[in-house]
Amino acid sequence: MSDYEAVIGLEIHAQLLTRSKIFCGCSAAFGGAPNTHVCPVCLGFPGALPVLNRSAVDYGIRAAVALGCQINGTSIFARKNYFYPDLPKGYQISQYEQPLAVHGGVDFDGPGGRMHVGITRVHLEEDAGKSLHEGFPDSDRKTYVDFNRSGVPLIEIVTEPDLRDAADAAEFFSQLRTILVWLGVNDGNMEEGSLRCDANVSVRPKGQKALGTKAEVKNLNSFRFLQKALEYEIGRQIDLLAGGGTVVQETRLWDSGSGVTVSMRSKEEAHDYRYFPEPDLPPVLVDESRVATIRAAMPELPAARRERFTTEFALSAYHAGQLTQSVAAADYFEAVVKAGAAPQSACNWITGTLAAKLNESGTPIERSPIEPARLAGLLKEIDAGSISGSIGKDVFETMYSSGRPAEEIIAADGLKQIDDDSQIAGPMADVLANNQDAVAQYRAGKASTFGFLVGQVMKATRGRANPKRVNELLKKALDA
Ligand SMILES: [Zn+2]
Repeated sequence: MSDYEAVIGLEIHAQLLTRSKIFCGCSAAFGGAPNTHVCPVCLGFPGALPVLNRSAVDYGIRAAVALGCQINGTSIFARKNYFYPDLPKGYQISQYEQPLAVHGGVDFDGPGGRMHVGITRVHLEEDAGKSLHEGFPDSDRKTYVDFNRSGVPLIEIVTEPDLRDAADAAEFFSQLRTILVWLGVNDGNMEEGSLRCDANVSVRPKGQKALGTKAEVKNLNSFRFLQKALEYEIGRQIDLLAGGGTVVQETRLWDSGSGVTVSMRSKEEAHDYRYFPEPDLPPVLVDESRVATIRAAMPELPAARRERFTTEFALSAYHAGQLTQSVAAADYFEAVVKAGAAPQSACNWITGTLAAKLNESGTPIERSPIEPARLAGLLKEIDAGSISGSIGKDVFETMYSSGRPAEEIIAADGLKQIDDDSQIAGPMADVLANNQDAVAQYRAGKASTFGFLVGQVMKATRGRANPKRVNELLKKALDA
């Protein structure tokens, strides 16, 4: 293995799910015809004054509390000055010296076991507009700009450089996304850019305390890209150092087509932005009662719920993890159990048969055509032995397409399991009479024909015979 180790920290930008923008009343919805969600404030007209959206602060606090941060009683907006065509004011309103929240941390289960990642800070800021390089009449010689995104509220979450491995970083980002979506503060839609990640990465000889020179890889909008970009970048830096070269501090872009990072610009330092307190906005004051109210309204977080599923319902960590991918899945599972299904069967059916069926049509579990209580009804019939598992699958299909309850389908279609030996005896006698070769082979010692004969009896009863009874009765008949 390599004599170097990587040091990775992430900066994650998450769009907050407020209806309006952070400093004006324009819609914060994604899309819309270009430049239709705009006003003098978010277009940066001179003299137009920002007014802070209270909900954006509440969402920011909610996320920061979930990430274990301390909320600052006073935080200050600051101007981050730079020029870019999608930033008409010439500065972005962000937070610098006194952010909304600091000193948090998240425990998560990475590929290499339980890990802790410190959260340095969570701050509020506005998003910039968007340059459009294609799709317009003069796109071959002009760049267009859409300001609908200008002024949309973001939180930036900055981690400590606690990660050492590309796969861990990707897993952490994925679990952070789950938390933000779970809290209802972000929609997790990375394709639309409402969740984006920049990674700071450096390498150093193993055992060395001092950090190496870092590069920042920008705008990684999928977990896979984050992992691949980090793997490439770590390898590149190690090769440089091992070859006697030096790493240059710079901003790099991931080129997913060629699978490499490429230099974009030399990395700017904080002083390049000439941060200063935003004179048009008062300090943000957050008192303890506001934080307490938000904390009290927080849902049970994914990690706690996972833990509870393993203790309360005796599920494996793996299954508990699968059921806590979203609030909706976890709620659905608990509702099925509450309606009387055994937790393990509920888990198996939800993560297996139901998940597969929902995936076929891209239907989220909260819109499942089978309500939790109805699924519980089916599972109770199966667990009580009134229908077999394989008939249960057929009943499930009918429930899914018709929305009818299991009990009704079972009664109407005559699917109830046959436990009565006298009703199995007739079909079994026919099977034995029609398959004398197989019977002779079994009696001559070929045990495998037994399974074939069981199958024939099941077929003759349209799968309704209790397989256990069929086994016992057949054995008795053949061994007689
Ligand atoms: Zn506006």
